[in-house]
Amino acid sequence: MDPPGYTFRPMQARRKTRQVWIGDDVTGRKAIGGDAPILVQTMTAGYTHEIDACVAEIERYRQAGADVVRVAVPERKDTEALKEILKQVRVPIVADVHFHYQRALEAVEAGIHKIRLNPGNINDRDQVNKVIDACKERKIPIRIGVNEGSIIERKDKQKRMEELGKYFAGHKSGHLLALMIAKLEEYLEIFHARDFHDIVISAKSMDPALVIDIYTEIADRFDYPLHLGVTHAGPKSTGAIRSVAALSTLIANGIGDTLRISYASDHIDEVKDGLEILYCLGKRERKGVELIACPTCGRIQVDLFTLVKEVEVKLAAEIQLPIKVAVMGCIVNGPGEAEGADVAVFAGDRRGIIYVQGQRVANVPEEEILDRLLKECKDFEARVKRGEAKLGDKVVDIVPPDPIGELGSGAQKINAGLVEKVTVRAT
Ligand code: SF4
Repeated sequence: MDPPGYTFRPMQARRKTRQVWIGDDVTGRKAIGGDAPILVQTMTAGYTHEIDACVAEIERYRQAGADVVRVAVPERKDTEALKEILKQVRVPIVADVHFHYQRALEAVEAGIHKIRLNPGNINDRDQVNKVIDACKERKIPIRIGVNEGSIIERKDKQKRMEELGKYFAGHKSGHLLALMIAKLEEYLEIFHARDFHDIVISAKSMDPALVIDIYTEIADRFDYPLHLGVTHAGPKSTGAIRSVAALSTLIANGIGDTLRISYASDHIDEVKDGLEILYCLGKRERKGVELIACPTCGRIQVDLFTLVKEVEVKLAAEIQLPIKVAVMGCIVNGPGEAEGADVAVFAGDRRGIIYVQGQRVANVPEEEILDRLLKECKDFEARVKRGEAKLGDKVVDIVPPDPIGELGSGAQKINAGLVEKVTVRAT
């Protein structure tokens, strides 16, 4: 029961949607929507018709954890390449189609797993019908992807727009919101007339606040799975913040069935950051190490930034299990984080004390911290794999050293030789 005056408000339950399936026997089949986990997507940056490079790029993303990879098919030679690409990949592939509905038909013919259509540039009813019929025959889902950037009829005066415009009056992007919703409704009507419901919807913008509002509206209006994204989010440095702001808000509100982060940088980061959002929100089971590190402050007595960078790279390369590792700068927050971590180090005066599940295992000079921490992580992982240890268990309560003595509280103990003098810089 809540204590008086408090109401516990947990994260919203996931919104119920229809479910679509993508993939085949070779790639494996994945569900989007319904009770399926939220999937992470990215898109290739190279040319699809460069088959070997395209396959290699897709494989790189798959290995990083991408559940689905999208490829651009602007030209006939791209859809022609799809047949060969689809024989070689192990992850469902989406063909991104703009302007030319024929590319969608060719991609379907090649055996593509999903089509993305943009209502902003393929809106001839007969053409859309042809794509729908082809996809229906082969049970291929279609994502209807409305992008703010490709909505061009901003002065559209249709009646529905006026109605929606009133509804969104007062919203700073009310006209655009109304236009995107009107576009979607109009487009969906074509699909419904064909009794086609293997649909995923997206409505991206570069404005995170608008992304939150538009997806919230769409989630209220339609029961199709939603593909989330902040489009043209910029370089990773700023794009990450924009994406996390919008996507985390939506997911915490129960909205979203698959996502793509869009960075103007190596797309491997899109996959990693997309997964990280889901891990952080508890929506996917973490794969690989969870690294906790302090930001450092005026108490720091080792080169923690370098250490953390090296630890991150080494652990990502050498540890598979989701071990929680804490790299802390000093005794202030070190013991607390070490208690919650499987393997932890907290540093002091050019030294580091290493703990494994609460048990102190080493006290080493700074230059040995990296190797020793890595060794302890590997040993711990091996023990978990042999069933001798369990992730998240704490064997003993941490009994921290009392190194702040020279700053006050433990001076007597240190002077009496009762504690290790490990984190106090000699002055
Ligand atoms: S753990 Fe220590 S060094 Fe790191 S931020 Fe906290 S107080 Fe500062």
